[in-house]
Amino acid sequence: MPVEPAEGAPSAAASTGKRARCPRCQRPSAHCLCALIPRLDSRTQLLILQHPSETSHALNTARLAALGLVQAELRVGERFDALEDGLERPARRACLLFPGDEALPLEAFAAGSEDPLLLVVPDGTWRKARKLLHLNPALAALPRVTLPPGPASRYRLRKAPMAGALSTLEAIVQALDILEAPARFGALLRPFDALIEGQVAAMGAETYRRNHQRE
Ligand SMILES: [Zn+2]
Repeated sequence: MPVEPAEGAPSAAASTGKRARCPRCQRPSAHCLCALIPRLDSRTQLLILQHPSETSHALNTARLAALGLVQAELRVGERFDALEDGLERPARRACLLFPGDEALPLEAFAAGSEDPLLLVVPDGTWRKARKLLHLNPALAALPRVTLPPGPASRYRLRKAPMAGALSTLEAIVQALDILEAPARFGALLRPFDALIEGQVAAMGAETYRRNHQRE
């Protein structure tokens, strides 16, 4: 799920500068997270559509999801082609993880058929995600699904636009835990937790508490 960047959060440019980066996880080499990224298979296919403004953000959780899941694909852009970008796939029921008046709970949508799902997940701030839908009628036309109210996000470094909003990675983990139970996908969160711990340590616990913890 998209989340808004926090004011004063370290920008990609400020936090990574010109230091060498790991070509895979894109983190500064000294903080490479690759050893923590699992490689999990799933019946569900995921297509993560990322607004270009998200790619250089230090906390690119969509990238962690794409690296950790065999069946996930990350595409960056503003305009997507339904066929070329794989919004439509044979023998797959596509749905968009995004709120809407007609949105169904993910579990209910999945229960409607035996066909495996293609779960399309927009990544970016709410504003950018809505823009993606506006620019891509094929995306906006997909049936929408939502996650049940769950635990609050661990992701406190960027202000969530609404209570219960999750980072893209957390939303994907929750969705797969529902769709593929009893399989669990929490291992995907390991690099994410390390990333947050690293950021918290870097900015100082007190500043973090003051700026990012919500009661
Ligand atoms: Zn790495």
